[in-house]
Amino acid sequence: MEFACVATKPVVLWFRRDLRLNDNPALYHAVATGRPILPVFIQDRDPDRPAGAASLWWLDKSLRALDASLQDRGSRLILRRGDSLIQLQSLIQETGADAVFMNRLFEPAAFARDADIAHELKSAGVDCRGFNGSLLARPGAVLNGSDAPYKVFTPFMKALLAAAEPPPPTPAPRRIDTPDAVQTESIDDWGLHPTRPDWSQGFDWTPGEAGADAALSDFLARGLKTYAKGRDHPALPTTSRLSPHLHRGEISPWRAAQRARDAADAGAVPAAEAAKFVSELGWRDFSAHLLHHFPTMTDRAFRPEYEAMPWRDDPEGLEAWKRGRTGYPLVDAGMRQLWTTGWMHNRVRMVVASFLVKHLLIDWREGEAWFWDTLVDADLASNVQNWQWVAGSGADAAPYFRIFNPIAQGEKFDAEGGYVRRWVPELRRLPDRWLQSPWTAPPEVLRDAGVRLGKDYPHPILDHAQARARALDALKAVTGRD
Ligand code: FAD
Repeated sequence: MEFACVATKPVVLWFRRDLRLNDNPALYHAVATGRPILPVFIQDRDPDRPAGAASLWWLDKSLRALDASLQDRGSRLILRRGDSLIQLQSLIQETGADAVFMNRLFEPAAFARDADIAHELKSAGVDCRGFNGSLLARPGAVLNGSDAPYKVFTPFMKALLAAAEPPPPTPAPRRIDTPDAVQTESIDDWGLHPTRPDWSQGFDWTPGEAGADAALSDFLARGLKTYAKGRDHPALPTTSRLSPHLHRGEISPWRAAQRARDAADAGAVPAAEAAKFVSELGWRDFSAHLLHHFPTMTDRAFRPEYEAMPWRDDPEGLEAWKRGRTGYPLVDAGMRQLWTTGWMHNRVRMVVASFLVKHLLIDWREGEAWFWDTLVDADLASNVQNWQWVAGSGADAAPYFRIFNPIAQGEKFDAEGGYVRRWVPELRRLPDRWLQSPWTAPPEVLRDAGVRLGKDYPHPILDHAQARARALDALKAVTGRD
């Protein structure tokens, strides 16, 4: 009540997946009103799908970093838990605020919930405004000639680049005025960081806006100049590792794109490398737009005929895959990198996903769920879109009959074995020639390398050629061909 009588009513700034102060349209417009700001984060159940454990680990640190940045500017982050609408209404009642500004979420259920919240607030006379702070273009802004969503990436990206202008950069405000006497919860009570056991010891990340900026600067200086080819080699530090920062909105995708283009304009990197990077950011938008327009793709095959795929029930195979114990070194290296660090290189994500869906013939939804819980960058649209891409059932998918050979992939993209040796250390002394298929090594080579197959490292859980034939056979259920 204390605030209801102040002359300038505060604006509630509802932070969600836009945990940054630079290039934040909702913050920019809130500050432009000249009124006090109430920055709030509400820990509510995600209406599309509750966040996984690794993602919550990240959220914990990201919120702390945002609070510190706000405090540097004379403000602070107000934390609340529970139903978003109820929490916003009570904050409005407590403070006399009459406006709520937010950056939009575009996942189907969150989008619908936000529309309901906006309706309720507006009916109560609250000025409720939404902005796009997370995507290059908002869903609905990139449609084909028949006003329908694109289902193929290349024309989508062409249309996006033609339609969407980079917004002018907006630096973080120097000062943000926030009324003092507003109650907040303590993040320490939220239990977002794992305990008993704390499985996050190997998570080597700096969540938050400064961490995102540092990751981007490092990438521009080191990775971007050879990005197009280097991005396929998991042992090289050639990709940006921006995905978890982008997911939590610690950096705007336009800023990442623009800084890459600026590096090309300054002659520091070839223009084609910067364009490739922007195109990868485009896949993120493509995924988000698809999910927005086709909400059932989270749990149904985008191409309905793929629902006929005869998936196998194989708990042991699934467990070996999750634990990195399949006997295929590149697959195991990827799954162990994921478990240890909360992230996996894109090339290896494709290989491990293909191994699950094709070699093991296990439903892509099982793999998608494991990624969801273990990835720090777990993103509903990108995860589902990419899993369906690998499974052949997606909108613009890899054909199902193209089956990654995990041995050949290792020999091509990890030729010197740096990636496998790092994540599967029990094979580190095996010469390159046998590293991707240890079971083909002569006994004396294994002995000299200190590898006892079946003891130190598993025998392969399946035979590649047989599994490939089985996968192609299974495809007949979809195509109807004999
Ligand atoms: P960079 O190569 O530096 O790319 C820059 C940015 O572009 C990334 O940060 C990401 O935001 C975007 N991007 C790149 N490739 C893709 C792609 N194929 N699809 C969508 N966006 C892309 N990415 C996620 O962010 N969250 C996920 O949950 C996720 N699940 C995946 C599941 C599977 C089975 C596969 C094959 C890929 C998945 N990806 C996911 C996409 C991709 O693997 C990661 O975005 C990428 O590895 C992140 O590393 P980076 O930031 O260094 O990428």
